[in-house]
Amino acid sequence: MEISTRTVIMAGHRFHFERRGGTFPWAETNTIAAVRPRISRDRADWQLFGSVFSKLTDKFSTGDPKKQWWELFRKAGNEVCSARFDVTNSAFDHTWTGRDFYGNPPFEGQFIYRMQDKALADFSSEPQNTRFLFILPYWPQSNWYGFVKHFKVLETFPKDTMMFSASATGVLNTSSLKPAGDEGGPGRFLIEGTPWPVIAVYLDATTSTTVDDSVKLHLRLGHPGERATEHIAAKYEHGLQTNAAKQTCKHCHVCKLAKATRVPAYPSTSTYDMYSTFALVFSDIHGPLSPTSYSGQRFMIHFTCTSRYTFVYFMETRDQAADRLAQFSTSVSQLGHTVAAIVLRTDGDSVYTSGDLAGICESQGIKQEISAPYVHTNAAVAERLWRTVLDITRALLSTSGLSHDIGPLRPDMRRTCMYGARMVRWR
Ligand SMILES: [Zn+2]
Repeated sequence: MEISTRTVIMAGHRFHFERRGGTFPWAETNTIAAVRPRISRDRADWQLFGSVFSKLTDKFSTGDPKKQWWELFRKAGNEVCSARFDVTNSAFDHTWTGRDFYGNPPFEGQFIYRMQDKALADFSSEPQNTRFLFILPYWPQSNWYGFVKHFKVLETFPKDTMMFSASATGVLNTSSLKPAGDEGGPGRFLIEGTPWPVIAVYLDATTSTTVDDSVKLHLRLGHPGERATEHIAAKYEHGLQTNAAKQTCKHCHVCKLAKATRVPAYPSTSTYDMYSTFALVFSDIHGPLSPTSYSGQRFMIHFTCTSRYTFVYFMETRDQAADRLAQFSTSVSQLGHTVAAIVLRTDGDSVYTSGDLAGICESQGIKQEISAPYVHTNAAVAERLWRTVLDITRALLSTSGLSHDIGPLRPDMRRTCMYGARMVRWR
């Protein structure tokens, strides 16, 4: 597990930040302390009115909602539910599955980001038995707002709604404050209206993601990952918020299903920066595809440069590989590169090492290199491409409403995916 720590001095206070496994930025008690000097009233202690909580949870509860829902973030005196985690037993040290969880987090960006990220990640491991209800400020520009589309907004409370109470700790003169009474508890007072609208969001196995522009981008490009999406968001003009677009991929359940994989024995992301364009080219054949495409193509062959520039061709039979290599070398010289400089790395399939293809290599000065036999991972780049293409195919099929054995469409669909893969610069 990766652990990194950092100490920051802000307004004369020392804050100790700790990041574990890339999952969260700092320890609980510090968060609450950290927000205190920056806002007039400590939002970490805001307690939702009992009546508002009951109304929100009513239709999701059998029996007493205060017993059924687990409150994630409590401080002594602000608890709504009887079962809970609190600052001495942090919710972030537990897995949030198999229960109904209620979270009214401190209204602080980093904290909310981390809470939603964890909720969505944990949820995906046990969606049938897990539910979430969160109370959030309506801050559409914040870095966490992209996560909200994975939840259902149950209710929006307009700005200035009176719905929270806070304890009077530290306040010397309480005579001007209104006691919370039944809505809070002893020693608590009403917060006189919220400075922004507040939303109550809910998640269970039937919740569907709201389709906004970043979701559309994600679907149309065949479910690219976070890094690819970030690249697109940075390089293309489309008016999307980079964070919101990235957060779409992070918790897309189609991606999780379609791209489930083993940890690679040999990464395909090693850099090959020492090679110039088309100096080292990986190639691999995939097939026979079942079923055959409408046009009778049963195999695919690709040629991929270390820069990940990729050419994919379709074939009826494997011995058309020589012909496809000839097409590829023509394209390379048309792009202004030297064919004779190419080193072609493959898994040593006989299609490459003998027959017409070997002849073309010899006549054009292309050198062949063979990865160790039976160690397919040596050809990680060559084979990683198929995973990218097949992931995209599966992801597109999952959302298309078409059956996975729709058959003749699939190879043609892969052709579509290749456009997507090339555009997002696959890894
Ligand atoms: Zn996806």
